[in-house]
Amino acid sequence: MTENPFFRPSTLDYELPPFAEIREEHYLPAYERGMAEQLAEIAAITADRSLPTFENTLVALERSGELLRRVDAVFRNQSSSDTTDLLDEVEAKVSPLLAAHHDAIHLDRALFARIEALYRTRTELGLDPESLRLLERRYTGFERSGARLGEAEQARLRELNAELAALGTTFQQNVNAATRANALVLDSAAELAGLSEGAIAGAAENARVLGHEDKYVLSLKNTSGQPELAQLTDRSVRERLLAASLGRGIEANGPIAIRMAGLRAERAALLGHPSHAAYVVADETAGTVEAVSALLARLVGPAVANARREAAELAAAAAADGIGEIAAHDWAYYSEKVRQSSFQVDAAVLRPYFELERVLRDGVFFAANLAYGLSFTERPDLTAHHPDARVFEVFEEDGTALGLFVGDFHARASKRGGAWMDSLVEQSALTGRRPVVLNNLNIPLPAPGEPVLMSWDEVRTLFHEFGHALHGLFSDVRYPLFSGTSVPRDFVEFPSQVNEMWMVRPEVLANYARHHETGEPLPAGLVERMTAAEGFGQGFRTVEYLAATLLDWAWHTVPQGEEIADAEEFESRALAAAGVGVDAIPPRYRTTYFQHVFASGYSAAYYAYIWSEVLDADTVQWFEGNGRPVRESGEVFRRELLARGFSRDPLESFRAVIGRAPETEPLLARRGLL
Ligand SMILES: [Zn+2]
Repeated sequence: MTENPFFRPSTLDYELPPFAEIREEHYLPAYERGMAEQLAEIAAITADRSLPTFENTLVALERSGELLRRVDAVFRNQSSSDTTDLLDEVEAKVSPLLAAHHDAIHLDRALFARIEALYRTRTELGLDPESLRLLERRYTGFERSGARLGEAEQARLRELNAELAALGTTFQQNVNAATRANALVLDSAAELAGLSEGAIAGAAENARVLGHEDKYVLSLKNTSGQPELAQLTDRSVRERLLAASLGRGIEANGPIAIRMAGLRAERAALLGHPSHAAYVVADETAGTVEAVSALLARLVGPAVANARREAAELAAAAAADGIGEIAAHDWAYYSEKVRQSSFQVDAAVLRPYFELERVLRDGVFFAANLAYGLSFTERPDLTAHHPDARVFEVFEEDGTALGLFVGDFHARASKRGGAWMDSLVEQSALTGRRPVVLNNLNIPLPAPGEPVLMSWDEVRTLFHEFGHALHGLFSDVRYPLFSGTSVPRDFVEFPSQVNEMWMVRPEVLANYARHHETGEPLPAGLVERMTAAEGFGQGFRTVEYLAATLLDWAWHTVPQGEEIADAEEFESRALAAAGVGVDAIPPRYRTTYFQHVFASGYSAAYYAYIWSEVLDADTVQWFEGNGRPVRESGEVFRRELLARGFSRDPLESFRAVIGRAPETEPLLARRGLL
């Protein structure tokens, strides 16, 4: 047997992981050895008889865990973007081990004693600002992980963390299974009336792949809403599709959500906070539960009023079809009708102008060139984690190589839903590494030989995720802890949202939005009408998002000891109490498939998207109104904000760009909430 490829640093360019050599059976041994190695490194730090110094403690800690970092970066991506039964098993085994490993380091009294001794004398150590911040952030991280607790409390904390890690993995795997199981199987093409020919052919192909010969299968997206709801003319099919989506995971995940909320509340109490939400936001830019609640409360009333105005317009359109009252499964369909009649835009008309290759090269990459001077060269000689994923080398304006960008744009049965960015190699001056970043999307593969034509939302997602990629690529920090996107969650969505602005910048749009067959530009006025039409849907979109946010908030502001009997009942009461219980607008995610908050790191942090959007809207206004050339603004945004990662206070970085603290008005204007 050949040696496990994780055991040594990669020798490929940029230390790109050696994907061609990695086999499923390499992960678990690499994790085990990686954790053991790091614990040995920590033991060496604490065994050092000399007095603690920044170098022998903090820097040594930053350098520790190399093997674990290597395997974890690859595994996290692999298990999300191309999983197998075996990888699911590895994940179920590893996640409690990782939680225990985190505790083993953060509850190590000898290690904390060294950090604390340094922290107490931090102003006398002559540290540069980034090093001082490293000491402060590490100290806070240990404290928040329970380093100060007594023996019995730490023992309980370890139990809580282990159980929460295991439950999170089970929750995620239940969502995946339910999402597959609830795919809608239809007998005839007639039931798919309203969908494009391509989409119907796709549903037939999907059925074939899934073993339903001569049928049609609509697979489910992550969210409550499903894109086909906007087109399916058969109301009963719409109803079945939405019911399949909303019904995911109720039996399996309802009790898990209840248990997790209880454990999180207990852990928060142990760590001295009144609720899990209070614990989480204390380390976010928002700071307090009150600050978040205040922003949300300010948005709910106007958003619901907008949604009700939209509902009245939809009802008028539906009346023509003999429908008395708009149900949740009618909303997207009549929205699309109103959009077409009031704004003369038909979402389907846009697709031929959004061909993936063109959007990527002449849109996303082109915008990165305009703003930051970047250029991109595909590297087919470098192997990524899946045959459909592509590797690009990224260059500065002066030709200096900056890093690698891996794009995995397509949906597959083995990929989880949604879109996300990951880091395979983190930039750090300490380790001398340059960044390797990765974007995952879920754009359906067309029939063989057909071009990949994208929807408006998919184009936006491509720009969005690339904004995260830039955050990683531009990272220019010393310590890995601060690298790239390692910022608070309520800040991390800000740079990615800012990057969405390029999608409709006239000079960018004109460059990429061309008909894939004729090369014709978009018909005049179409984008303006599309943008106006988007304004029309803001009521719905804001309410469905706020509903999910307030649901997350309700689950995580529960104080310790409060009993929750039934997840669905808790959900409907929470939504009604928050004033977002609009019958025809289900939350963007219901509790039982809300992976962000029960299976990844967004518990009590789903508010982060709208919190970040405050900064985003403010920054877009700055880009458009500051009177400087785009390239110059891009340089300021890069130098003062993207490059800094978490190496300084993120709001300080924001102020360094804009010249003042963030203001809410641009967001309210954008969302029609003023
Ligand atoms: Zn994002």
